[in-house]
Amino acid sequence: MIEIYEKLAEFYTGEDLELCYKAYDFSKKAHQSQKRASGEEYFIHPCFVAGILVDLGLDAATVAAAFLHDVIEDTPVSENDIKNTFGSEVLELVLGVTKLEKIEFTSKEEEQAENFRKLFVAMAKDIRVIIIKLADRLHNMRSLNFLSHERQQRMARETLEIYAPLAGRLGISQVKCELEDLCLKYLEPEFYEYLVVNIDERLKENEMLVDQVISVVDSMLKESGINGEVYGRRKHLYSIYRKMKERGKTLDQIYDLVAIRIIVNSVDECYEVFGKIHHKWKPVPGRIKDYIATPKPNMYRSLHTTVVTNFGRFFEIQIRTFEMNHAAEYGIAAHWKYKEKKEGDDLDTRLSWIREVMEWQGGLKDSKEFLSSLKGDVYSSEALVFTPKGDVISLPKNATPLDFAYHIHSAIGNRCVGAKVNGKMVPLNTELQVGDIVEIITNQNSKGPSWDWLKIVKSPSARVKIKQFFKKEMKEENAKTGKVMLEEEAKRRGYRLSEILNDESFLFLSAKLSFNGQDEMFSSVGFGAVSPSQVIIKLIDFYRKRQPQQDIPRMVSTSSSAKASGVVVKGMTGILVRFAGCCHPVPGDDVVGFISRGHGVTVHRRDCPNLKNVEQERLIDVTWTDKNTSSFNAGIKVIGHAQAEILTTVAAQCAVQKLEIMSTNGRTDAKTGRVTIDFNIRLSDRNELDKLISKIAQAPRIIDVFRTTT
Ligand code: MN
Repeated sequence: MIEIYEKLAEFYTGEDLELCYKAYDFSKKAHQSQKRASGEEYFIHPCFVAGILVDLGLDAATVAAAFLHDVIEDTPVSENDIKNTFGSEVLELVLGVTKLEKIEFTSKEEEQAENFRKLFVAMAKDIRVIIIKLADRLHNMRSLNFLSHERQQRMARETLEIYAPLAGRLGISQVKCELEDLCLKYLEPEFYEYLVVNIDERLKENEMLVDQVISVVDSMLKESGINGEVYGRRKHLYSIYRKMKERGKTLDQIYDLVAIRIIVNSVDECYEVFGKIHHKWKPVPGRIKDYIATPKPNMYRSLHTTVVTNFGRFFEIQIRTFEMNHAAEYGIAAHWKYKEKKEGDDLDTRLSWIREVMEWQGGLKDSKEFLSSLKGDVYSSEALVFTPKGDVISLPKNATPLDFAYHIHSAIGNRCVGAKVNGKMVPLNTELQVGDIVEIITNQNSKGPSWDWLKIVKSPSARVKIKQFFKKEMKEENAKTGKVMLEEEAKRRGYRLSEILNDESFLFLSAKLSFNGQDEMFSSVGFGAVSPSQVIIKLIDFYRKRQPQQDIPRMVSTSSSAKASGVVVKGMTGILVRFAGCCHPVPGDDVVGFISRGHGVTVHRRDCPNLKNVEQERLIDVTWTDKNTSSFNAGIKVIGHAQAEILTTVAAQCAVQKLEIMSTNGRTDAKTGRVTIDFNIRLSDRNELDKLISKIAQAPRIIDVFRTTT
């Protein structure tokens, strides 16, 4: 392995070089008698891994650890031997890699989460461990042809699912692209072969064209006195494969087999060239991407555009500075490669996302969610929207104002009480469109996010931030208070909490409100993120479905807010509309909409007392439509002298009007002996309700009857 020896001398000096050589010798001796599946000496594997890391520009300790990464596992060398010879920094790196060695991500679903957790712990401890692991995987993938078909498949699938996205998330695109292409080779050998042959052919046909475009751009740069480089860069196979698969295209329909890359010296020059390109050739709409203003989460920065050239062909053009280009190739590894510290190249900041995921322990419960936190942010940036100041923000497809708020800052997200899009108030679950101007309304007194938000947000990072918030606020006291609140609410409705809350009903509940355990439910009630009635109503619902129906009127108010049809919200369509559970509006009532947090628009009666204390800017005009096919619940309170009299009167009148009594809830005043019964009646409009009330009022021995608002 003369090559690596020389390579080391080229990149390192002094103590660093000595350390690398020492590790080289040590590893060579330790692996002496071992052979690889290919029949070659085992030692060449650590050499290649070390070589990849030298090329990426990692420090000497990392390279030394790469030489040693398999000795503990595969040879009699002990931890102490390494510690004594190389010190604890190198030992820790070696141990880190050794631990990861045992993780197999193709193992059973339930073990996945634990494996992901281990991976994240390792990353948070020292990111260099993962970089060594990636180099190790890269070399193993390069020499995969010596393994059995089954192992090839397993290793390639694991690499495509875990390690390639990981390399991408760390911005090490060199490694990511090579890994992906190797995976393709083993997972889709025929497709791979087809691409290799055909792409080469097409590239040859196109060579002239590419050269012409390059020379046009070249002279453009010279005319403007800009010093830069222009070259054609072929896309890696896997990205072409993905485009064909995902968009159902043939190879002929993919015009960007080669991207033209322009590298200049400053950000100003990037935009200057960008403008000149668009002046020369028309950009294809929707293909302009400004990753300088809004870098990808992995810190990738560049301007992208696709233009129609006068050669009758589309070309993708990427414009960036030299520094951005290094960062795009090396990602996190650039931290070691380009030692002069640049502003914003703080390793901690760059890796804060790892900590974010870690801090939210519950998050790693779901391996799918983990994967999306790994890939989602990187790949699905689609919706470009604007801040009121004109900054561009890139969000995942179908993102909502909440994603926007959390993208700006978790504090903005947590205090968000409303949002305006293009100057108009909108519900928080509105899907943002490209070009929307989004403004977040915050309130210092906001109690913070609600659990429903987890269902609204589309970006994994926003989910993480919301869950983090709850975790922080999830103090024991909240849980205690919450439990008491639930017990009281249950009692108020005539149940004991212990009667309606069990494992089964909780499962039902958490499917609707997404709690991770009963404690989380208690604390989020205590904290105010969920109202006790929201929980209790669902539990009672569940309980009643399981129990034989009781014929004694029980303390029940019907479930709040059915999904509404029959009203039109001013200026909006396709919006989620519900009827308020407090005042039960029916067609004919004077109503107003309230833009609620995450629930769309809630329709209240205009005189509903609950509206008195809300922010007036969140009210919105709604009107009844002419055709109402649905029916509505309305509450009335009837006061009389005896339960039987009241029940008979109301039941008789309902029978006449063909209305359905949904529930009743009665009590007797011990002092006066008066009986009060609340009825919930299903009817279709205000006229029916008015008629019902006036008929009951006329009945003998009825003291009073009126419509209720709870
Ligand atoms: Mn290895």
